[in-house]
Amino acid sequence: MDKFFITTAIDYTNDVIHIGHAYQKILADAIARYHRQKGDQTYFLTGTDEHGQKVETGAKKNNQDPKTFVDKIAKEDQNEWDSLNISYDRFIRTTDPDHIKFAQEFYLKAKANGDIYLAKYEGLYCEGCEAYLTESDLVENKCPFHPNFTPQKITEENYFFALSKYQKFLENHIKKNPEFIWPESKRKEILAFIKGGLKDFSVSRQGVTWGIPVPDDPKHTIYVWFDALINYLTYGIQKNCWPADIHVLGKDNQRFHAIYWPAMLKSAGYELPKTILVHDFISLNGQKISKSLGNVIRPSELVAKFGVDGVRYYFLRFGPLTNDIDISLDKIADSYNSDLANGLGNLVSRVAKMATGLEFKPGRLDKEKIYQEGLAQALSDFRFDLALQQIWLDIVAVDKHINQNTPWLVKDQDKLYRILEEEIEDIRKIAIRLAPFLPETAGKIEGIFTAKKIVATTPLFPRI
Ligand SMILES: [Zn+2]
Repeated sequence: MDKFFITTAIDYTNDVIHIGHAYQKILADAIARYHRQKGDQTYFLTGTDEHGQKVETGAKKNNQDPKTFVDKIAKEDQNEWDSLNISYDRFIRTTDPDHIKFAQEFYLKAKANGDIYLAKYEGLYCEGCEAYLTESDLVENKCPFHPNFTPQKITEENYFFALSKYQKFLENHIKKNPEFIWPESKRKEILAFIKGGLKDFSVSRQGVTWGIPVPDDPKHTIYVWFDALINYLTYGIQKNCWPADIHVLGKDNQRFHAIYWPAMLKSAGYELPKTILVHDFISLNGQKISKSLGNVIRPSELVAKFGVDGVRYYFLRFGPLTNDIDISLDKIADSYNSDLANGLGNLVSRVAKMATGLEFKPGRLDKEKIYQEGLAQALSDFRFDLALQQIWLDIVAVDKHINQNTPWLVKDQDKLYRILEEEIEDIRKIAIRLAPFLPETAGKIEGIFTAKKIVATTPLFPRI
């Protein structure tokens, strides 16, 4: 049995997540479910990133201690992911005791390797990124990701990680391993950034108390990014499933994952992850999704409107895999009505209605064979949009087959039975192929057509 370990980025607990974060989790979930279905021993990790200045400030504003504050947000985040049927094996929190212990051990390993040193730092800090910026990062004197914050000038004595030492190593690794960063456009961006020269980065803060204490100098806390990245390894080592096969993350996190993290791992003596899958962003009605713009929608609100698989379908079919996309509730409703209500839902109702009252003996379907070559290829290329397009061609083919055989005109019961048996088997195969993407729907379809007596059902996707 093959091992397969996939992670998402862990969400920052200054606020509950919104639909801008949903794509990544749905994507990782579909990959994890596909590998489970293939029979791989699958590990799927998600969670929350809970330390740092922004949480400290957020808790203070709410007159709460930071732990009470993050407990509530972590719980709400988890409920949001549950509403989307995200099948994580562990929801890790960076305040979990096993992670704190492991992060400290990791820090000491990098230090023992001579890569952590004390130095004075003077520079710009973006509170939004919880990261230092250089002049070249700024767009109109602001952080490109957080134009609402003004970068602060900070002077502090901190511990630094000797990232510059790993410049050649990283360059070689990325050149030799084309699958290390996906897609290719992001791989090129990262390589160009590395060639521009890497600077050592701060791995501790003195002014921030809400963090993991630096084990051998506890007046410092470990810098929130250094702490957060280690979450993957906390779990990976515990479950003996390291290295990760895929880290899924958004493009705002790509430098941390493709540069800092592999250098940190190399320093502490661990293997590197195999693939870093970077996706782009969504905007809503032409606007960035943010609390300050007042356009935040929670995933559970979308699920209430379109059903869990209505939401999953839209994102997997049209999501921002390699390009930023703009979404709207109308666009989701259109795809729901045309592809789910009219396409898949209609086919299932139609066949179930014709088969009502008949008794079929459903055979076991061999899942491995059902992934015809094209679909398996699309999935291993991370082209979920193409995978769904192929499945929808299968749906059209069954519809066509029904129209050609006109079962509603067939008077002979044996002949009718044979025609429907064939359609039912084809639909069940479609359900198996759909299961990683639309698990709830796939389960319902299998339930309808393996029942002792098939009955006409209420529509899987009532029109909106
Ligand atoms: Zn920023």
